[in-house]
Amino acid sequence: MQSEIKLTILGSTGTIGENTLDVVSRHASCQVIALTANTQVEKLYQQCLQFQPRYVAVADEAAASLLAEKLQHTAPEIIVLSGVAGLETVAALDEVNTVMAAIVGAAGLLPTLAAARAGKKILLANKEALVMSGHLFMEEVRHNKATLLPIDSEHNAIFQCMPEHYADGLQQVGVNKILLTASGGPFRTKALSELKNVTPAQAVAHPNWVMGQKISVDSATMMNKGLEVIEACWLFNTTVDMIEVVIHPQSIIHSMVSYKDGSVLAQLGNPDMRTPIAHAMAWPERIESGVEPLDFFEVANFEFEKPDMQRFACLRLAYEAMKSGGTATTILNAANEVAVDAFLKERIGFLDIPQIIESSLNHLNIEPATSLDQVLKADQQARLHAEEEVLRNHRTN
Ligand code: NAD
Ligand code: MG
Repeated sequence: MQSEIKLTILGSTGTIGENTLDVVSRHASCQVIALTANTQVEKLYQQCLQFQPRYVAVADEAAASLLAEKLQHTAPEIIVLSGVAGLETVAALDEVNTVMAAIVGAAGLLPTLAAARAGKKILLANKEALVMSGHLFMEEVRHNKATLLPIDSEHNAIFQCMPEHYADGLQQVGVNKILLTASGGPFRTKALSELKNVTPAQAVAHPNWVMGQKISVDSATMMNKGLEVIEACWLFNTTVDMIEVVIHPQSIIHSMVSYKDGSVLAQLGNPDMRTPIAHAMAWPERIESGVEPLDFFEVANFEFEKPDMQRFACLRLAYEAMKSGGTATTILNAANEVAVDAFLKERIGFLDIPQIIESSLNHLNIEPATSLDQVLKADQQARLHAEEEVLRNHRTN
């Protein structure tokens, strides 16, 4: 790599965080300046010993104290910060040029925004930040001349298949459609009548990818693809009608761009997040990621299907929310987070997830998302409503 990467990893103990550290460990020009987590003290402690960051930020205050105590004996030079303020601080440090945004859910918004305001190169895994507040987030990126590079494998693939000046408008550069691929998750072929009783363990067992629990459930409901449709609209400055979801169960083609001359460009590779991470870290150069090259003689036949919007109601709701605009996608995201958490705790059933999201979208006022306060208020209101729905479902189940 030509220039040195000085990195903050927001969410270093998660799946994306660990994959990022794996890529970092292969390149001497990559230096970790800050690591962060929510509560996982032991894992973060081990990462501190191995990567010797200057700072570590822990969202949970009690966990931060525990970590500080442990580090006092082994690495007292590491500065321990805590709370959201600590996360925001390490996202905006002068000595950092690159921020991996890999916190899961709405909790990622404020620290990722802090990186945007500080004009950093942001490697964006935390799709929820864009779903919650796409317009405001993109404004901050532009205004502060931050660089935004997608880590989500599909968006990274699309980015790789786009012409240089795509930000001028997709039609202008000859793009006909974005083809967003989806594996279809573990329940693509399960009988509809059986979906009601699927367990959290079945839902998180993704056929092709190893991921955190929340995104794994999102993949099973296909809300993950819904969030990605919205994410793609903001990243590539386009509207939902330009984005078509194509189910491709093998997860080898990571997405495609269709051009008006009939060409379709695709990015392929083994399903391993280290490829998009290494791509975005080194962009516009290329570096080793540790991912095995794709063996075309080994891969199964490629299949493609249209998504069934009845089976995957969450995907339909995401399209509708993006069409409604304003705080609709904030409500969609918040209600989904509450419902997924309740499902993982076995408080509600799998099919209650879309029902709770739809109820939240129907009951709450959708307003223009013109300020961060408005977005955070919509997020809070949707969480309250969704939690009431969880309680109601819990009682009637
Ligand atoms: P994960 O659950 O494995 O890790 C989440 C990380 O966020 C952990 O480090 C955790 O400590 C931190 N975190 C959680 N709550 C927090 C809070 N309140 N405050 C501060 N930190 C908090 O999740 P993951 O699978 O690594 O996914 C991370 C993000 O990347 C998600 O937005 C997901 O949609 C996106 N993403 C993941 C994958 C994947 O393959 N795992 C692929 C594409 C996009
Ligand atoms: Mg993805």
